[in-house]
Amino acid sequence: MRDDPAILDTLDIGAGPAGIGTALALQAVEGLVQGAVERGQLGETFLQWPEHVTFLTPSFTGNGFGATDLKSVHPDTSPAFSLGVDYPTGAQYAWYLRGLAKHFAVPVMPNTEVTTITATAEGFSLATSKGSVVARTVVWAGGEFHNPRQPRLAGGEHADHSATAAAWAARSGRIVIVGGYESGLDVACHHVAGGASVTVVDPDHPWQAGNGSDPSFRLSPRTRQRVKAALATGRLILSDAGRATGIRPDAKGLYTVAIAGGTAVTADSRPILATGFGPGLGPATHLFEDRGNGWPLLDDNDESTLTPGLFLTGAALRHESLKFCFVYKYRQRFAHVARVIGERLGRDCSGLEAWRTAGMLTDDLSCCGVECAC
Ligand SMILES: Cc1cc2nc3c(=O)[nH]c(=O)nc-3n(C[C@H](O)[C@H](O)[C@H](O)COP(=O)(O)OP(=O)(O)OC[C@H]3O[C@@H](n4cnc5c(N)ncnc54)[C@H](O)[C@@H]3O)c2cc1C
Repeated sequence: MRDDPAILDTLDIGAGPAGIGTALALQAVEGLVQGAVERGQLGETFLQWPEHVTFLTPSFTGNGFGATDLKSVHPDTSPAFSLGVDYPTGAQYAWYLRGLAKHFAVPVMPNTEVTTITATAEGFSLATSKGSVVARTVVWAGGEFHNPRQPRLAGGEHADHSATAAAWAARSGRIVIVGGYESGLDVACHHVAGGASVTVVDPDHPWQAGNGSDPSFRLSPRTRQRVKAALATGRLILSDAGRATGIRPDAKGLYTVAIAGGTAVTADSRPILATGFGPGLGPATHLFEDRGNGWPLLDDNDESTLTPGLFLTGAALRHESLKFCFVYKYRQRFAHVARVIGERLGRDCSGLEAWRTAGMLTDDLSCCGVECAC
């Protein structure tokens, strides 16, 4: 099974933290022949982050004491150590990822886009912008930044998504933001600091306490502190009056955002949509079953329930009510997926125990839902 050099044991698609992290875990499996392709540059998504955007989870070098830096994707590395900052920008984190790939000689082919994936008797046949590839297994690590979610909103084309530079460019006067979770409040605090008056519209009022201690359902402490400071200026309004239903520009250059229930708010510039991202499975979409809410259904090994041998890594990972939307969460599965692939091919996977020692391997998902006592 391992004799044909033209067939990769596994191919990673995407070179963000999930793709590079999984490739690094796969390197710890004895004798695995792997490749990785990236349609842009390593860390492409982070290079596209608006320049003012930073991570909200902190980076800190706790590695020597069993508390691996929350944004590391390899047990022996720490973005805080290599970058010298605790809340990196996208460009800084892309620099960390590039350094990691270089140091550990991760075999990534940049500027190579996968356009089709076909399941075959041998595994997978993939067409890329640089030619075809055959692999026994595939790990989809294509991310979701390229798939901003557009809410059902009349006139949505008159707004800027929070993932774009336009949403972060300096504005004055009244600003309206639709969506009040992390990214909505991030861009709101940014514009309040710049002197604007901002109204955030979200009927689910995520700025209130939230459920439980899981940061996927509760605002980060950093955001809560920033919101408190922004509210103190008197120029931030958090409105849970209703769902935004439409955006209408007028001849004077104003924008009216209609709210369900009949009210409205006015903005002096294009409203901002902080409505998150969809899963963005690209050419792998048809190979995953839908969970019923747009996100892919996976088995306990993060493998497609439709297509054996196709795994998913990254922030689109969901199991029951668990969301793996932060680096420190989905990185727990790199070594697990690597071990599943390695064991199927009969390889020695003992090298992955170093990932467990570093607190970067969770194979029992029932351990993830723990609540903090206080
Ligand atoms: C504004 C913002 C703030 C965030 N803050 C935090 C935070 O504080 N802490 C945290 O843990 N997480 C945070 N996240 C989430 C984190 O950034 C994402 O989880 C992370 O980017 C996902 O990594 P990834 O490797 O899955 O995807 P990406 O980094 O998007 O990588 C996917 C790669 O796949 C490539 N690709 C896609 N399709 C193809 C194809 N067909 N062929 C070849 N290559 C392809 C893309 O070019 C891209 O480089 C934040 C996200 C955003 C948007």
